Amino acid sequence: MRKNIVAGNWKMNTNLQDGLALAKGLNEALKGKDINCDVILGTPFTHIASVVDAVDANKIGVAAQNCADKVSGAYTGEVSAEMVASTGAKYVILGHSERRAYYHETPAILKDKVNLALANNLTPIFCIGEVLAERESNKHFDIVKYQISESLFELSAEDFSKIVLAYEPVWAIGTGKTATAEQAQEMHAFIRKTLVEKYGEDIANNTSILYGGSANASNAKELFSNPDVDGGLIGGASLSVENFMPVIEAF
Ligand code: PEP
Repeated sequence: MRKNIVAGNWKMNTNLQDGLALAKGLNEALKGKDINCDVILGTPFTHIASVVDAVDANKIGVAAQNCADKVSGAYTGEVSAEMVASTGAKYVILGHSERRAYYHETPAILKDKVNLALANNLTPIFCIGEVLAERESNKHFDIVKYQISESLFELSAEDFSKIVLAYEPVWAIGTGKTATAEQAQEMHAFIRKTLVEKYGEDIANNTSILYGGSANASNAKELFSNPDVDGGLIGGASLSVENFMPVIEAF
């Protein structure tokens, strides 16, 4: 059965020392607690190896927030999937709307990134989601289906079963404007139906689909109680132990 997952996305926040203190604080807070979900921290590249060393791997997995779409070579400033994997990270967030919007990551580029992540035994946390104008013109289902199919639907069933999806309506990210529980459930059910059509019931039912977009302590319980919402990708509220723990404990 699919896993419940709460993943933090620190984005470009915290220096190494502050990030390490945050990871250690969360590690302490989780000690002795019976947690009903997998916990992941998506840290900046510079922090990954230190955070991996500092936390209990049985309680906290570590994710990169991106990886290159090339294997290796003359790509100054890029970080390959192999490099990420060599730090001990087990996950990589791919296709975040900020990467799509500000760094022009197309579905084709993201397909290459997903393939390289999988080839290096990283679990992609693959983000999809519509902008406000697309929702207002009732194109949100088509957009999300397009994002999934263009980047992921050439994967074998075996490879697809390693993917975690994160539905993040762009209008809800960092805005304080959360999708309602009904809007989240409606889209997650649509995504799962799309997966059933392509890969069948078994794989669709085993795929974790996270919600992201201003999720926090006050709305996590309601969001996570929906049958097709299997957890959250959490930005702002993952930047302190005090705000992140209640989201984890919402399960
Ligand atoms: C995100 O960046 O993935 C995100 C969901 O951010 P926030 O929770 O701050 O909206």
